[in-house]
Amino acid sequence: MRHAVATLLLHHPSFLDHLTPSGHPERPDRLRAIDRMLEAERFQTLIREQAPLGDIEAALLAHPASHVDMIRDHIPDSGMVQLDADTCLSPGTWQASQRAIGAAMQAVDEVMEGKVNNAFCAIRPPGHHAETATAMGFCLFNTVAIAARYAQREYGLSRVAIVDFDVHHGNGTQDIFWNDASMLYCSTHQMPLFPGSGASNETGVGNIVNAPLHAGDGSAEFREAMDIAVLPRIDAFEPDLILISAGFDAHFRDPLANINLVETDYAWITRKLMDLADKHCEGRIVSLLEGGYDLEGLSHSVAAHLATLMEN
Ligand SMILES: [Zn+2]
Repeated sequence: MRHAVATLLLHHPSFLDHLTPSGHPERPDRLRAIDRMLEAERFQTLIREQAPLGDIEAALLAHPASHVDMIRDHIPDSGMVQLDADTCLSPGTWQASQRAIGAAMQAVDEVMEGKVNNAFCAIRPPGHHAETATAMGFCLFNTVAIAARYAQREYGLSRVAIVDFDVHHGNGTQDIFWNDASMLYCSTHQMPLFPGSGASNETGVGNIVNAPLHAGDGSAEFREAMDIAVLPRIDAFEPDLILISAGFDAHFRDPLANINLVETDYAWITRKLMDLADKHCEGRIVSLLEGGYDLEGLSHSVAAHLATLMEN
């Protein structure tokens, strides 16, 4: 019998100040669409907090100082700077990045301290493509990796599981945790597709689980991959905390990929992860927004994900 669940939503207007060029899919309107959706009556019991400015030193949990310095040194005073064809910086990027890290750390704190059962961070820029020393794929700092290491350092957790259902492979998270058996990284993603990694034979030290999907796959293939490849591994790992790299670009409306998920698939996987969190770690889940580029598909999928996190 599940008791009443308190769900934390972390957000902040500074996430709108990370700007990208006109026509770029990773744009501030993504968060505006989510904000509008979360005005609905059923979300009024969310505990809403402003994302604090994270200590940028926390980025060192996942990145060398040279990477942090490189990002900071490239932030422009005006206009935009491209780090590569996809990844750019604007004057507001530094604060947005600090608050994304701060949101993730605050979410970990409140979940670990039992103030809330679970949390969702509506943040930009995303993070799962950021490797140890490489920004790429719209991502600068690997927020979910920082959150995982922060949870271990602050709360002495032995095992943290990260589930990444973004349609792109989280090459950055895989890279950072490749040799770290205290972390389990599980990903479903379309292959072949950017960034090119994520084959099922990429297994790290036995702590990486890649379950690639193919263009045209939909609910049945996604659920089968989760049921067969991912969920049993999380169960066997017995995590102390589950983090979610919550990208919603496997939605059928998304322009960047060709997987055909619908909102109920996101509710389904959220429930499955909640059941495992209940079994192993008192329901502790922290979910971080990654991709999702069709505003309707994104906002409806986030709503399904959050409504499930809030369920009794
Ligand atoms: Zn993605």
